[in-house]
Amino acid sequence: MPLPSDLPVIDHHCHLHPNGEGVAAARRFAAAGGTHLVLATQNYTGTIPRSIEEYRDQFDTTFQLARAIRSDTGVEVRCVVAPYPIDLVHAAPLIGVGKALDLQRAALDLAGRFVREGEAVALGEVGTPHFPVEEELRTACESALDHAFEVARDADCPAVVHSADLDSAGYRDLAARAARARLAPGRVVKHYARSLVPRPDRAGIVPSFLARRELVNEVLEQEGPWFLETDFLDDPARPGAVLDLATVPRRAVAISERGAEAIERLRIPFVESFRTVYGWSPQVPERRAR
Ligand SMILES: [Zn+2]
Repeated sequence: MPLPSDLPVIDHHCHLHPNGEGVAAARRFAAAGGTHLVLATQNYTGTIPRSIEEYRDQFDTTFQLARAIRSDTGVEVRCVVAPYPIDLVHAAPLIGVGKALDLQRAALDLAGRFVREGEAVALGEVGTPHFPVEEELRTACESALDHAFEVARDADCPAVVHSADLDSAGYRDLAARAARARLAPGRVVKHYARSLVPRPDRAGIVPSFLARRELVNEVLEQEGPWFLETDFLDDPARPGAVLDLATVPRRAVAISERGAEAIERLRIPFVESFRTVYGWSPQVPERRAR
């Protein structure tokens, strides 16, 4: 059974590199049945940004890549931008913790401006280091995250969070932090979720699940909102380090072969959750609808 012509197929979190596979990877995604990519920015230069101009260049690279993908492949792309939270850890020894935190805040403000102007749909990735850091840095990272939540609140958009895998206590902590910034938990997305924490134990936070076969089968029965993602890294030096960009459409095709009821479940990660969390109703681009 082919995918229904009105069902979008969306990878909710991936990275592409202009010097990596880039547009060609998006073409593979489209050939497998994918229609939309949510493209998260990343550091493209390999050096830690020390100025707001470097972040502006980084975000511009993401927007340019999105335009190239749209025009060359017909895949719809939505961008997610923010300074990578771990940049703060690496910038601190170079420019000092205080300046590094100021830079994070300024880059978050810039990201919020791009959301308000319609270039991006969310702030991401924001968060805290998934590894231990010394006290002063930990505090700085946490206040950067607080600022990120405030910017998301003011820009009226989701915040896509990078963190260690969360259990119910972790979800509760994150929801409490969002509440302090007066950001609704339903606007906070935990990306790269690898374990299924039942909805009542997630304190309203929205998981974006890694599209591993077993996990997808497990979450398919869950009530929304939730998303599917590969976190594709487009790094030729690390092939196989992450899921391939064609994974989400491949899973969608496999699931759709189970019948109409299974196809209905796919509307949760590809339609309903985007409506609830992003206020966006994805439409299948003309190219595949035909
Ligand atoms: Zn990522």
